[in-house]
Amino acid sequence: MSKRIAVLGAGESGVGAALLAKEKGFDVFVSDGGNIKPERQNVLKHAEIDFEENHHSEDRILAVDEVVKSPGIPFTAPIVAKLMEQGTPIIDELEFAARYTKGKLIGITGTNGKTTTTMLVHHLLKGAGVDVGLAGNIGQSMAKQLVDGDHDYWVLEVSSFQLDVMHQTRFHIALILNITEDHLDRYNYEMQRYIDAKFRITQNQTDEDHFIYWADDVVLRKEIAKRNWSSQMHGFSLDQSQQNGAFLNEDTITITIKEEMTMSIHELAIQGRHNANNTMAGGITARILDIRKEVIRDCMSDFQNVEHRLEHVTTVSGVEYINDSKATNVNSTWYALESMHAPTIWIVGGVDKGNDYSELYELVKDKTKVIIALGKDNAKILNAFGDLEKEMYEASSMEEAVAIAYRVSQKGDNVLLSPACASFDLFESYEDRGDQFKHAVKGL
Ligand code: ADP
Repeated sequence: MSKRIAVLGAGESGVGAALLAKEKGFDVFVSDGGNIKPERQNVLKHAEIDFEENHHSEDRILAVDEVVKSPGIPFTAPIVAKLMEQGTPIIDELEFAARYTKGKLIGITGTNGKTTTTMLVHHLLKGAGVDVGLAGNIGQSMAKQLVDGDHDYWVLEVSSFQLDVMHQTRFHIALILNITEDHLDRYNYEMQRYIDAKFRITQNQTDEDHFIYWADDVVLRKEIAKRNWSSQMHGFSLDQSQQNGAFLNEDTITITIKEEMTMSIHELAIQGRHNANNTMAGGITARILDIRKEVIRDCMSDFQNVEHRLEHVTTVSGVEYINDSKATNVNSTWYALESMHAPTIWIVGGVDKGNDYSELYELVKDKTKVIIALGKDNAKILNAFGDLEKEMYEASSMEEAVAIAYRVSQKGDNVLLSPACASFDLFESYEDRGDQFKHAVKGL
């Protein structure tokens, strides 16, 4: 009898895992506690994969040999708790897919910068003519792509929720960009559990593999010191020189892997100190893989970042509008404010995940001239910055927020949407929020 697999959650990764499992001859069943989008239902029907929506048939799921769980489903979901109690193996789609590739894996995690760095590393490898696939939290699932064919390398954006249920996957190159508080609601509000999840990206590495990390990050440094390492280690730093890694000194990045190379930050397509980190992480990866310096330099200067990350929208009457809708936590907004070089009208707010705004206080004091709080409940933001005596406004739609920004701005100012919050109170997603911002700005 063929091995039985249940896939929990019919999103991009779940449907991909089901397609690959079917192709490999498993007996597959997909179960989603909510609705399954009609397009996805069609894909499953077409592949003759059995599925259910709006509930989980416990008897059927508890009887399978292995479960592929969507990262969105927490361990506390009743069906997951029951599976764990009876010891059914639960894995992630990436772990399932990784069994069927002959390629080497590059895994990128961290609280912020995953998507940017993953895209950058992919761009560098492509630029060098390497046969490389891109997956993880980006675009099409790895499993679905594998149905069509394999690659020599895979660059994967990996979140802590995926790592939670990864056990066997070995990353040839693993990157942890930074660790700051986020998603703690999924880790019983214990930071150490979140840190441990991130470090699982290194768990199967050997001395032939590489681990790249931000050497200035206190959390990372402390954790690295606690562990035994077999992989080759490469740090990147904004203020201390690094051997076998990379560092920034004034305006120059030096990569010290094999033959040394330098680059001016003014040549880079992505700006800001956080992006210097992402660039160094990408540069180290490229040098480990022996990508030529000229190729690295070219790719770093023509890289196009994805939307909604410090994205220049347009300039209206001498005011620059910047969309950083993807800044859904305090740390990413910190970097956005830090990179502002003009008086800033700051649009902030949304669903707060337990934010500590005091971390932003000094920057808000120095960099902003007007604060526009855009959310259903703005009390915490208004309180946090109330005593700065800046002009403050509340808005309940993006159109209103942009109209206020337009009214109060003067030539030479920036208008920055960097919410530090999730978007679900007024918007469908951070993409929707960023699109509405761009739409409103273009209508000025
Ligand atoms: P992720 O995929 O981890 O959410 P993104 O690349 O989508 O990361 O960026 C998310 C937000 O974090 C953006 O607002 C971006 O400007 C900011 N950011 C990007 N890289 C870093 C970094 N290395 N450190 C801190 N913030 C960053």
